[in-house]
Amino acid sequence: MRILVMLGAPGAGKSTRAKLLAELLGLLHVASGDLFREAVAQGTALGREAKGYMGRGALVPDAIVTGMIEDRLSQPDAAAGIVLDGFPRTRAQAEVFDASLARRRERVTAAVYIGVREVELIRRLSGRWVCKANGHLFHATDGPPKVPGVCDYDGSELFQRDDDRPETVRARLEQQLPPMFDVVDYYRETGVLLTVDGEQEFDQVKESLLRALGDQLQLPGGVGRR
Ligand SMILES: [Zn+2]
Repeated sequence: MRILVMLGAPGAGKSTRAKLLAELLGLLHVASGDLFREAVAQGTALGREAKGYMGRGALVPDAIVTGMIEDRLSQPDAAAGIVLDGFPRTRAQAEVFDASLARRRERVTAAVYIGVREVELIRRLSGRWVCKANGHLFHATDGPPKVPGVCDYDGSELFQRDDDRPETVRARLEQQLPPMFDVVDYYRETGVLLTVDGEQEFDQVKESLLRALGDQLQLPGGVGRR
């Protein structure tokens, strides 16, 4: 079973790449947020337990989250393996996850870190502008309006949501990056980390990903090699 972990900051394009990799390698894409919502909605034992914690406003223990992933791993559509997206978020979770995999005689095949510099993350995440009339979206550098501050479609004024302001983005990253780097370090220490430059063009990132994974996964027939 192949178990890939995707790591990357918000704005690094982690989920897009996780889905793409899952598709290319015939693995199941497992987004931790979806998994959580499904378990709670389906009322599984772990889902009910998790709901109890959330109802009390408490954090759901790592063992429960890991248990949900284990349950998912046991289902037939995950037989070939999974690409985990959004988990682990802390070193402690990574350790609990490794221990649970070891009990099943499995291990993380590779952890793929999509590296993007903080200054570039801020550019990507803080460039969004929204039209007041109809919510049309623009990006200051990646898809700017023809006239700054004016919607191309209806001429209405563009504004930035609080969440998209550079100072908000910067503050959020300051909270989110340190635990992510702890997880990156953890997988570097356990010898499964692969780093891909996430600032290349989309297709180049895809090629780098497959090339980096080629040896780790012993992909057949030149997949990912040139
Ligand atoms: Zn508009």
